[in-house]
Amino acid sequence: MEVFRRVEGYGHEQVVFCRNDEAGLRAIIAIHSTALGPALGGCRMWPYKTEEEALEDVLRLSRGMTYKNAAMGLNFGGGKAVIIGDPRKDKSELLFRAFGRFVQSLGGRYYTAEDVGLGPEDLEFVAQETDYVLGLSETSGDPSPVTAWGVFHGIQASLEEVFGDPSPKGRHVVIQGAGHVGYHLAKYLKEAGARVSIADIFPDKAEKAQKDLGVEVLPPEDIHRVPCDVFAPCALGGVLNEKTIPELNCKIVAGSANNQLGKTGDGELLRQRGILYAPDFVINGGGVINVAEEMHPEGYSRERALKKVATIADKLREIYRIAKEQGISTEKAADVMAETRLEKVTRLQRMYLPEE
Ligand code: NAD
Repeated sequence: MEVFRRVEGYGHEQVVFCRNDEAGLRAIIAIHSTALGPALGGCRMWPYKTEEEALEDVLRLSRGMTYKNAAMGLNFGGGKAVIIGDPRKDKSELLFRAFGRFVQSLGGRYYTAEDVGLGPEDLEFVAQETDYVLGLSETSGDPSPVTAWGVFHGIQASLEEVFGDPSPKGRHVVIQGAGHVGYHLAKYLKEAGARVSIADIFPDKAEKAQKDLGVEVLPPEDIHRVPCDVFAPCALGGVLNEKTIPELNCKIVAGSANNQLGKTGDGELLRQRGILYAPDFVINGGGVINVAEEMHPEGYSRERALKKVATIADKLREIYRIAKEQGISTEKAADVMAETRLEKVTRLQRMYLPEE
């Protein structure tokens, strides 16, 4: 494997391979960019079949964090870590403490947080060895309600763009996935008077939402085909692809799932179909805004975090404006917005300041 060539392809600053045999640790920390500030992104634990697969994932995810953090207006760069292992059987105190020591060794160039495969208790072990952890339960805690709040505001901005009225009242929203984010999103939408339908591959999850919130339950198969105003993917990635996009029966796609597009460029297929797509890394940025709030000089405040997350609506409005003006997909326009901020801030930082 030609590691440097791979890394060059994505434009990373630094990639750290971490090994500790006693702890059984094999991890990779990828710092894509620190142009805006220290790199921030969660740590994922996954039973990658090959080291190459793990490297590819961490390179792709960390680059995505550069764009997400830039688009959210945060002074954080992009980074991510992966631990190679099965979260169901390979977790231990030593593993996470060993990982924590590697994070500490970077001296604050990378802040870690929770991602797929890690729970709050694992992060506690990491935090025993490093100061550079965000999202601990006693600080900003579960980000899901905050992420859902951002999606809720993003849906309103999208409704305004398509129907000239941001109100969800009377609009039909179909949510794929009644998990942490899907459930809270359903709650906010119901409270705002929307008609909400929800589907989950685990019927008990969808039924809980039905019982608590009075939403309709739909079978999960072919949920993307259901006629509605807004389709909100809040489950897994890859739901919008060459097969599903022609079958969509909605005016807007706006949900929390990461990597909703099957591949780069599929946003253009949505544009051609006249469906407004709220780019995933922008509409689901509430989680990262929430953890970043921990760095506020006055400490974390959920109220402040929710206020900031509501501005995701403004970011989407800006993306919709760029897309229209340049005749490009909203997927591309989101990249333009993030890259523009990165370039402008980087140029500003070239201005010489005398030392105090
Ligand atoms: P979760 O695991 O709690 O919920 C996902 C739900 O989707 C589960 O209930 C699962 O059973 C269901 N599901 C899986 N496949 C499905 C299918 N084919 N059809 C219907 N339902 C299906 O996860 P979450 O925390 O709610 O996150 C949802 C998505 O949002 C993920 O893609 C996640 O990466 C993304 N996201 C979450 C946050 C956050 O703060 N939690 C932040 C940013 C992005």
